[in-house]
Amino acid sequence: MAALKSYLGIEYKNLLCMDIVCHGVPSPKVFRDYIKYQSSKMKKPITNVDFRNKKSYGWAGHVETITTDGGRKKDSCLYTMLFYQHKILRPVCYVCPYKGLMHPGDLTIADYWGIDKALPGFSDNKGVSLVLVNTHKGNDVLELAKHQSTIEAIETDINKSMQPPLKEPFKEPANRDLFWADYQQNGFEYIAKKYAGKSWTWVVKYRIKKILMDLHLYKVTK
Ligand code: SF4
Repeated sequence: MAALKSYLGIEYKNLLCMDIVCHGVPSPKVFRDYIKYQSSKMKKPITNVDFRNKKSYGWAGHVETITTDGGRKKDSCLYTMLFYQHKILRPVCYVCPYKGLMHPGDLTIADYWGIDKALPGFSDNKGVSLVLVNTHKGNDVLELAKHQSTIEAIETDINKSMQPPLKEPFKEPANRDLFWADYQQNGFEYIAKKYAGKSWTWVVKYRIKKILMDLHLYKVTK
């Protein structure tokens, strides 16, 4: 968004810019290798990846569900675990200049992680969106949307629920170079075992969390 604005040089009345609260972007090579790996394990081509299976695990869960040609499904947290270790992010993401409340877009959207701290009891574990209004133009569009949809304005305090990418970039992991050296020498299956060998425990953890949330015994605190 910042690059587009810098390229255009002037403000266009009919241009509305919306950006996201960005966690960071992972290497496409790792994703391609992950798909190949799952395909070889499941002995079929992969036709679909649902990165957050909300139906089975809720919004607070982060389980990817892979579907093969033929409709077989598998739940996994392998890619999720690699992603959250931050070793597969692009180097520029560790020094990202957009990790604050102010963004270049007219509007900024995100999942509202931390909603339970700002507005206890509001989340139903199906997903709450965060919209940050950065400009008058963004505000005008949101006002318009309010009349045409079911957006509800609720008083909340963002300072109580600042998700990490609204504060600062994620630190570059100390063993990132070792990870990539391992990857180059030994391939995906090796790093999957070495760095995410226990990813199945996350699937179990998210399953239990979902049950506790359905029973109202656990709140979304992420
Ligand atoms: S540099 Fe920042 S905005 Fe760009 S992909 Fe990385 S985290 Fe996202």
